[in-house]
Amino acid sequence: MKKVVAGVDIGGTNTVFGIVDTEGKVLADGHFKTTDYPDVKDFVKALGANVKKLLAGKKDLELVGIGIGAPDANYHRGTIEHAPNLLWKGIVPLGDLVKKELNIKVAITNDANAAAMGEMVFGGAKGMKDFIVLTLGTGLGSGIVVDGKLVYGHTGFAGEVGHLCVVPGGRECGCGRKGCLETYASATGLVKTASLMISEMRADSPLRDIPPSKLTSKAIADAAAKGDPIAVKAMEYTAEKLGLGIINSIVYTSPEAIFLFGGLANAGELLFKPVREYLKKNNYVLFKNTVKILPSGISESNGAVLGSAALILNEL
Ligand SMILES: [Zn+2]
Repeated sequence: MKKVVAGVDIGGTNTVFGIVDTEGKVLADGHFKTTDYPDVKDFVKALGANVKKLLAGKKDLELVGIGIGAPDANYHRGTIEHAPNLLWKGIVPLGDLVKKELNIKVAITNDANAAAMGEMVFGGAKGMKDFIVLTLGTGLGSGIVVDGKLVYGHTGFAGEVGHLCVVPGGRECGCGRKGCLETYASATGLVKTASLMISEMRADSPLRDIPPSKLTSKAIADAAAKGDPIAVKAMEYTAEKLGLGIINSIVYTSPEAIFLFGGLANAGELLFKPVREYLKKNNYVLFKNTVKILPSGISESNGAVLGSAALILNEL
């Protein structure tokens, strides 16, 4: 019998899941709509049925655990707590429900922590003990690993780098405060920055031809790659804020590397280069030239499933 685990990523719209072996190979995967299940109990039944379907007829595979990445998940308690992007309100005992349904070991954490586990077990952080993963999508998520362990903290919610304040009194954040890093250094933040620059700068730009509601971080990155001055400036501003957030994070844990993952990180050197330059100039002297800024070693297509699988593999 070959031991395998299930990796599950619960998003506000879609849930993706897969069967993963101990080498990080996704043997089978699938997805369904999270929003089809307003009652979490129905969701868990559907998840159980879907996972069993992937294993049907594969008698040589033994499912030994399930790792779940979900928004606002509490690792300590196995719960999802007051997630604004999910239909399930309040505190949801997801871990217990899944354990009852499948009768196997369950581990739950938020998606950025799962991404950090994926990086450590299967990705670019193999062999590293101290590193941080930043996921740059609609918001900015983070997973902080110290001495080979994810940092969960007293509450189970540690590692909210996206809500570091980088501009006191700055942009309004979804968390109700102002100037949080994720309002600048995320796909959404870049679009906001570019929109402001389009109205403030006079330079010609292909971005002016895109209706404001259709402007995407990818369009901005593409324009920056062609040397468009507004896009380049927007990218540099974003990198500067991201650099500041990184510098403020480094002082706590002295990581060997920062991995950038997700939508905005796909801009590649257009983002990485100005971030590295910002660190070179501004990093605290003890940490100068000690931190690598790296792209994730995990492909985005199955990163979520691999991260959740790594979470449970690390515990077995
Ligand atoms: Zn915030």
